[in-house]
Amino acid sequence: MSAPPRREKGAAGAGGFATRSIHAGAEPDEATGAVSPPVYQTSTYAQEEIGRHKGYEYARTQNPTRERLERSVAALEGAKHGLAFGSGMAAIHTIMALFQAGDRAVCSSDLYGGTFRLFDKVMTRFGMSFAWIDSSNPREVEEAMAPGAKLLFLETPSNPLMRITDLAHAVRVAREKGAVTVVDNTFLSPALQRPLEFGIDVVVHSTTKYLNGHSDVVGGAVATSRDDLAERLRFLQNAAGAVPGPWDCWLTLRGIRTLALRMERHDQNGRALAEWLSRHPKIKKLYYPGLATHPQHELARRQMKGFGGMISFDLGSLEAANRFARSLEVFTLAESLGGIESLCCHPATMTHASMPREDREARGLTDGLIRLSVGCEDLADLVADVEGALEQV
Ligand SMILES: *Cc1c(COP(=O)(O)O)cnc(C)c1O
Repeated sequence: MSAPPRREKGAAGAGGFATRSIHAGAEPDEATGAVSPPVYQTSTYAQEEIGRHKGYEYARTQNPTRERLERSVAALEGAKHGLAFGSGMAAIHTIMALFQAGDRAVCSSDLYGGTFRLFDKVMTRFGMSFAWIDSSNPREVEEAMAPGAKLLFLETPSNPLMRITDLAHAVRVAREKGAVTVVDNTFLSPALQRPLEFGIDVVVHSTTKYLNGHSDVVGGAVATSRDDLAERLRFLQNAAGAVPGPWDCWLTLRGIRTLALRMERHDQNGRALAEWLSRHPKIKKLYYPGLATHPQHELARRQMKGFGGMISFDLGSLEAANRFARSLEVFTLAESLGGIESLCCHPATMTHASMPREDREARGLTDGLIRLSVGCEDLADLVADVEGALEQV
């Protein structure tokens, strides 16, 4: 008889990041040895007799393909627990269901527009209140947390202005108040930043972006090493039911297997294109944490393992932004980010359209702002494309 399969191969903590991204959750099928994991396209499971089953009862509650994705995300973030959801917003909404009426949250002011909308338009109806701060300013974090809060919700780098929040400092401040700390790590992926290493309680992802990386699935994930939170989140995942389908889990798991490779290229291309843009006379303001001129460049170097592929810049007006966007040929004008193909986004009318104009402008999110998701193409083609489009501005 052959030895039983090693279920924990590639699990949390085993091997380097690339090894984990390739193996965690993607172990060969135990039943057949299939190297590509099976897709369990089922809603329910046969039971041997009343009350006796193989640990799987109903697919909202348990699905083996989803469990593989959850193991993978946990291993990548260095977490004990991973949970997968039907979208990034579903993951964030489930986290918010940990709280209740009367609870106060402190948040980075330039969160993803959909997160702002969920908090401002939905969670306030359930009696939660929100303080919006520039969390890249440690004093603002301290002042906003002083009256107490149940949640500190951060995005770093922020979206789309690429402000960096000091995670170790935020954790110290939040712990004093007993607040849960959450970081939306979508912009960097665990390849370039692992917030749990700084003591953050919960990491959330839109797996739609870098984790899946191929612009063909909408999904979300949560990772935490806190058993108490994991247990409550697992309960809420089943109780509220915002779970992903098995095919989407499988596709995301396949995308993750090249995460380490892809992020290396996104990071290289992002750095080089940002350097190039920083010398261009038509760029009024440039936001990229890898540039020495970025106000938190030193913090970014300490806290992040790379600077990534997200770059924002201001062209001064809606008209200039539109001329630029229309003239691109390699970059596609589209919402979203993090795919292997380069995308260009106009935050004011796309990702942050749900934010009222005065809120947008107060956050520095102007009509002339362009956000690039730098893909994995040849750098020379990306530079030539941006150069050509800037000539039209
Ligand atoms: C896209 C995105 C979300 C929302 O995720 P969906 O998968 O679109 O629901 C949340 N946070 C950030 C930073 C995002 O970019």
